[in-house]
Amino acid sequence: MADEEAGGAERMEVSTELPQTPQLLASWWDQQVDFYTTFLHHLAQLVPEIYSAEMDPDLEKQEESIQMSIFTPLEWYLFGEDPDICLEKLKHSGAFQLCGKVFKSGETTYSCRDCAIDPTCVLCMDCFQNSVHKNHRYKMHTSTGGGFCDCGDTEAWKTGPFCISHEPGRAGTTKESLRCPLNEEVIAQARKIFPSVIKYIVEMTIWEEEKELPPELQRREKNERYYCVLFNDEHHSYDHVIYSLQRALDCELAEAQLHTTAIDKEGRRAVKAGAFAACQEAKEDIKSHSENVSQHPLHVEVLHSEVMAHQKFALRLGSWMNKIMSYSSARKILHELIFSSFFMEMEYKKFFAMEFVKYYKQLQKEYISDDHDRSISVTALSVQMFTVPTLARHLIEEQNVISVITETLLEVLPEYLDRNNKFNFQGYSQDKLGRVYAVICDLKYILISKPTVWTERLRMQFLEGFRSFLKILTCMQGMEEIRRQVGQHIEVDPDWEAAIAIQMQLKNILLMFQEWCACDEELLLVAYKECHKAVMRCSTSFISSSKTVVQLWGHTLETKSYKVSEDLVSIHLPLSRTLAGLHVRLSRLGAVSRLHEFVPFEDFQVEVLVEYPLRCLVLVAQVVAEMWRRNGLSLISQVFYYQDVKCREEMYDKDIIMLQIGASLMDPNRFLLLVLQRYELADAFNKTISTKDQDLIKQYNTLIEEMLQVLIYIVGERYVPGVGNVTKEEVTMREIIHLLCIEPMPHSAIAKNLPENENNETGLENVINKVATFKKPGVSGHGVYELKDESLKDFNMYFYHYSKTQHSKAEHMQKKRRKQENKDEALPPPPPPEFCPAFSKVVNLLNCDIMMYILRTIFERAIDTDSNLWTEGMLQMAFHILALGLLEEKQQLEKAPEEEVTFDFYHKASRLGSSAMNAQNIQMLLEKLKGIPQLEGQKDMITWILQMFDTVKRLREKSCLIVATTSGSESIKNDEIIHDKEKAERKRKAEAARLHRQKIMAQMSALQKNFIETHKLMYDSTSEMSGKEDSIMEEESAPAVSDYSRIALGPKRGPTVTEKEVLTCILCQEEQEVKIENNAMVLSACVQKSTALTQHRGKPIELSGETLDPLFMDPDLAYGTYTGSCGHVMHAVCWQKYFEAVQLSSQQRIHVDLFDLESGEYLCPLCKSLCNTVIPIIPLQPQRINSENAEALAQLLTLAQWIQTVLARISGYNMKHAKGENPPIPVLVDQGMGDSTFEFHSILSFGIQPSIKYSNSIKEMVILFATTIYRIGLKVPPDETDPRVPMMTWSTCAFTVQAIENLLGDEGKPLFGALQNRQHNGLKALMQFAIAQKITCPQVLIQKHLIRLLSVVLPNLKSEDTPCLLSIDLFHVLVGAVLAFPSLYWDDTVDLQPSSISSSYNHLYLFHLITMAHMLQILLTIDTDLPLAQVQEESEEARSASSFLAEVSQYTNGCIGCGIPGWYLWVSLKNGITPYLRCAALFFHYLLGVTPPDELLTNPAEGEYSALCSYLSLPTNLFLLFQEYWDTVRPLLQRWCADPALLNCLKQKSTIVRYPRKRNSLIELPDDYSCLLNQASHFRCPRSADDERKHPVLCLFCGAILCSQNICCQEIVNGEEVGACIFHALHCGAGVCIFLKIRECRVVLVEGKARGCAYPAPYLDEYGETDPGLKRGNPLHLSRERYRKLHLVWQQHCIIEEIARSQETNQMLFGFNWQLL
Ligand SMILES: [Zn+2]
Ligand SMILES: [Zn+2]
Ligand SMILES: [Zn+2]
Ligand SMILES: [Zn+2]
Ligand SMILES: [Zn+2]
Ligand SMILES: [Zn+2]
Ligand SMILES: [Zn+2]
Repeated sequence: MADEEAGGAERMEVSTELPQTPQLLASWWDQQVDFYTTFLHHLAQLVPEIYSAEMDPDLEKQEESIQMSIFTPLEWYLFGEDPDICLEKLKHSGAFQLCGKVFKSGETTYSCRDCAIDPTCVLCMDCFQNSVHKNHRYKMHTSTGGGFCDCGDTEAWKTGPFCISHEPGRAGTTKESLRCPLNEEVIAQARKIFPSVIKYIVEMTIWEEEKELPPELQRREKNERYYCVLFNDEHHSYDHVIYSLQRALDCELAEAQLHTTAIDKEGRRAVKAGAFAACQEAKEDIKSHSENVSQHPLHVEVLHSEVMAHQKFALRLGSWMNKIMSYSSARKILHELIFSSFFMEMEYKKFFAMEFVKYYKQLQKEYISDDHDRSISVTALSVQMFTVPTLARHLIEEQNVISVITETLLEVLPEYLDRNNKFNFQGYSQDKLGRVYAVICDLKYILISKPTVWTERLRMQFLEGFRSFLKILTCMQGMEEIRRQVGQHIEVDPDWEAAIAIQMQLKNILLMFQEWCACDEELLLVAYKECHKAVMRCSTSFISSSKTVVQLWGHTLETKSYKVSEDLVSIHLPLSRTLAGLHVRLSRLGAVSRLHEFVPFEDFQVEVLVEYPLRCLVLVAQVVAEMWRRNGLSLISQVFYYQDVKCREEMYDKDIIMLQIGASLMDPNRFLLLVLQRYELADAFNKTISTKDQDLIKQYNTLIEEMLQVLIYIVGERYVPGVGNVTKEEVTMREIIHLLCIEPMPHSAIAKNLPENENNETGLENVINKVATFKKPGVSGHGVYELKDESLKDFNMYFYHYSKTQHSKAEHMQKKRRKQENKDEALPPPPPPEFCPAFSKVVNLLNCDIMMYILRTIFERAIDTDSNLWTEGMLQMAFHILALGLLEEKQQLEKAPEEEVTFDFYHKASRLGSSAMNAQNIQMLLEKLKGIPQLEGQKDMITWILQMFDTVKRLREKSCLIVATTSGSESIKNDEIIHDKEKAERKRKAEAARLHRQKIMAQMSALQKNFIETHKLMYDSTSEMSGKEDSIMEEESAPAVSDYSRIALGPKRGPTVTEKEVLTCILCQEEQEVKIENNAMVLSACVQKSTALTQHRGKPIELSGETLDPLFMDPDLAYGTYTGSCGHVMHAVCWQKYFEAVQLSSQQRIHVDLFDLESGEYLCPLCKSLCNTVIPIIPLQPQRINSENAEALAQLLTLAQWIQTVLARISGYNMKHAKGENPPIPVLVDQGMGDSTFEFHSILSFGIQPSIKYSNSIKEMVILFATTIYRIGLKVPPDETDPRVPMMTWSTCAFTVQAIENLLGDEGKPLFGALQNRQHNGLKALMQFAIAQKITCPQVLIQKHLIRLLSVVLPNLKSEDTPCLLSIDLFHVLVGAVLAFPSLYWDDTVDLQPSSISSSYNHLYLFHLITMAHMLQILLTIDTDLPLAQVQEESEEARSASSFLAEVSQYTNGCIGCGIPGWYLWVSLKNGITPYLRCAALFFHYLLGVTPPDELLTNPAEGEYSALCSYLSLPTNLFLLFQEYWDTVRPLLQRWCADPALLNCLKQKSTIVRYPRKRNSLIELPDDYSCLLNQASHFRCPRSADDERKHPVLCLFCGAILCSQNICCQEIVNGEEVGACIFHALHCGAGVCIFLKIRECRVVLVEGKARGCAYPAPYLDEYGETDPGLKRGNPLHLSRERYRKLHLVWQQHCIIEEIARSQETNQMLFGFNWQLL
């Protein structure tokens, strides 16, 4: 500043020749005296030209010109050298101790609850991860943009202000380099440049003239170009704007959309250019059109083109400054120089802050009247300055900032003042008021850290601020008064939200003011005086009103005649409440005695102080008594908030305190008379009211109850530091105890019910473990806190923060608990803490005459059979008061000698009530009450009180050294006897209950056992075996039980175990036996595409399977068709009816697409699972063979023989059909059998039987189900005649078995015996369906498919399209071949099927052949790098493996590695083949019904392999298969190995599938959720470059991060737009997917295009709770169990089910457009 006067006055005319290069321009500027003027002249010339094309700018050219002619010169001017070089230098100038990273919207910020000075102090992700706070109690939040990282700011942190990277003196940075390394010249330059630049930016940004520029910017000749500019506002939707534009400008939809998007993004947009008049016309048009669609016209202005240009450039100039700052490590130096450096360096910050305060009023006013975004408004900067403690203090001292803010409020709020100068927010604008809150917030920021040192000046200025603040409170004291509505209901509910919202905003500010005031006695007393004065000023109307007299029981009170039920009353009394707060603090400091020095006794007028809070409490009572019901809901809401945790500290609680102040300073009888008078109950207690009006009685009773409760609170509630001798911790503990007395609660629920301080802390964590124990959550639900037993004694039934429901819940819970513990049900108050001296007189309320009178009246009325003027609740309260009185006296007696205790509750209560004949004292009344049967529930409490009377009596007597009289001790004894009797009775009852429970438990466990037993029968079925359906060939009696063979295949095959199946239809509840000749019963089922087993995630999927040939499954199992069932059975007919009914009902009402009826979807009528088809239930056909016969047959039917027979059959088939029109596809290559002596009949030689005849109903269902599989599996329209229908049937059988086997393996469960019922029933039905399916299509077709399948494993049979061995899944081949094989037995003339014995051989040989093929697959693809545990080298298996591989190696010309140790081969093979064997076992079991060996039912690990081999008729040394069949197999081996396609496959190592296949699981997630947030913060949308807020979403299948809910990443599928996630799901999960929305910590499940649901994320905070939306911000950690559960949802194919179920229960989510996720 000092340089300004130096230098000459020579001024170069700007318009003359300007230097041409930036460098020259810079040096020319350097010669100018007044940079600002020069700079503006420069801009005046250039800016309008550069920005001339507003409507359709060439952005690139614009940018280039700006760089060249403005920015680069500025940079030269700043640095005095080439800016690129200089900035590069700065980059290496060392670490800087402040981070200052500016947050973008959506970025995660961290705050440390242990160390941050206040919650506005935050760290960026990097700093946080490198800081000590990582291990503290931190919170994560999502930035709304604008703030910056406080790392390095020592004033922001109590400890650990630096992260590792910003630590001063960190390696490589000396103290010198930390200080600014820039030379003084640059700093001096910066001092010149930056103020000018900022001034320009500010001036242009707030420029309001539409047609004129500031004189310095005006050019000589002004052009006549104008723009019609449309501004963003809050009243109009996108569609409104588009509509208005289209109409007004007569433009295309696309253009209107373009404008609208731009307006939304940039805040304004020129929509028309031209002469002023034309623009003006467009403006009016837009306004009028927009007015038509909504009440507000759009905000449109006509701006001169140059104004527009400069404003645009100002923004660009701002971002240039940001760019300069982005040289991150150069930042320190630059920060010192430029705009935001004000915040980095205290001195500048202070300077800026002072300027800010100077203009505060103006800034805020403009902000409030305009509708700008808070986060980018300069006013939002206040938090950065006001929360710095030293700065705040400075601003108060030097600039009186508190007054500045409060005066700003006083100036912006007058529009809400009514004629009494009170606020009235009727018809307020919520948006505008919302911006007023920002000013209130500033008040909070400035007060957030209480000064530790008080200077005289600070004291003075603070008081000044406080006085000014009281002015605001004065406008609130008594605002929005209401009057009780009688007769008519009010017409319009008044706006009450604004006043309550302000009250909420003010709550902590009020508390902070009180705390500041309490910093020292002197300050507090002065503040008290000021506040008292203000209260009195507001009470003048009351002081001057007329008077009335109340008399009761010989006491008289003269008071103002005022009735809450008739006169005006307000719930807003912040002045009175502040005074109450100050009084409590005065008491805490022990300075109440000095009060009269500041407020003379005669001025104090406690009755006036009490008056307004008392009215407020009476209002609440009257609302409860329904006296105000004609005033509508608004009053009820206000009363709710008055007592709600968000407001109560500065409303309800303070009113109670004010009454306590009154009770401590007034004569107790007078005080009670006042209370009675205000509750309008004096009459109710004065005379016997003999009204019959039940409503009136009810009203009186409610009012009395309400009053008694308040009296209980006045006397009993001492948990406020200053009222009672308690600490803050004790207060919080008590709140928690009372919450947990209602029920165990999760952390968040407790936190929600506790008031938050200005730092958003509840103090919960500090104390919770003292009173409660944490119970961890299971796989679902959340963790809860349970109250410790020792804290139960602190339960107070009349806890003043209980709502009515909480009160009764807690009472119920505690009584129940005591009952269970065999205790009496009395719930007396816990002994209260002592009052502070200033409040000690409150207890006198208890033993004053009026109180005794009230109690006695209540008891007398309860005894009087004629009186209705009492309730049990009222009695309970009276008992509570009695108990409080007795407890008080007992406590006093225990502490002091009897003669010093003046509190004589006992005596007062024992005194006779009146002189009447039947006068009784309270004890006598109690005895009578005890005898009233209706009051049985109160007996325990009465007993407790009577005992207490005795205790106090004895304490009195003992201390008087009087020996207890015998009668006294006798009565105690009597009591004890009675008590013992009751105890015994209770015990007896409890014992009976216990026995009852025991009995039920026994019954339950018996049932359970039975259940297990029944299910065991399924496998252990013994004696009964229906032998009537024996096959033609074998007719023998059933063998003995023990002989049951547990072998599924071959001659030793065991019998089918079947049971008569009688099922109940869930729809009609009728039973039916499942029989092939009966009408069909069906199982509800869902067919879905699945990638659960894929080895190749994300493999491109065919969107339509029109041309797919699904006979062979690729070994990567990329896309399978899974059939699941919920296991619920219906009659086919019932189901059809049900489905039709659903269809009908959906036509009648507008149906939300819960399910897609057109694709056959429906919800299971019982469990509401989503289903899309039904599986017919077909009984297993029992088969049994005679093993001896069968084994004899083995001699004849060797594998070679069998193959020949089959080939002959096929060739016969070929001959037969060769004549036909369609030559068959497969050919027998090199038959090697000479001429075809074998033909069709050869196959029949080993046994046939007639085909099964299914009922038509079953056939129909078979066709229906098969068509569904086809339709969904291939994504094609249904076509029951398509040749691929049977292929899909086999495919889903194979895939479903594989999926279930995989799941069982994943869970470590045994193959059989651990299946869920639904899986068991589903598999059974599916396999039996598959057997039946073949009969519903032409056998020729099946034969064709079969031959193609067989050509894989039969020598001499090869068709053109036989795939190579490595590109097929052999289990699919097995399933297809086995199911299709019977078709070979079919002929035009005869409908036959193989006999049991034939089947057993067919199965055996098919299985053996395919198994050998699979072994080769495994060995060819063996992974030689696995760390396997070595087994004995010399084992037989190892040797066989070695020699076998040597053989194979020859066939492949050494293509596959020899030299692999034999043991390694064997272990790999065994591991690799196990899943296949397990699948085969499942398949054959459900196909044939042969009981598996026990080892497969129980432990999965031990003996499983050999059991599998035994069940499947395999040698345990699998290589023996090759040995046994060597002659037959060798040509096959040669053929397989010589296949060029196979060799090709082997070379492509990357895509090769190895065995065992890898088991899929959801991706690994980090334990700490912040790591994910970190990842998300680095996420950039691949399609767009802007920094807009993104919704990164993580695919839990593959780990891809996607840009969700954003137009940039939408894709078109089948002509429809879908979001990135839905598109991704299509390939990644065949339409089904699980995503994690990272920024929200929410899991979503999606299916298809339009369905999805939210699912709890697997991240829990330390209290076992999830945090959807990161609202609470606690640190989150991965819950393995929950993640595992999510994994199982996927692998069990239950995603669709979860979605359907959640949509059923949560209709809310329909609003979400899942398609665009
Ligand atoms: Zn940082
Ligand atoms: Zn840092
Ligand atoms: Zn910390
Ligand atoms: Zn039915
Ligand atoms: Zn169901
Ligand atoms: Zn994915
Ligand atoms: Zn995107």
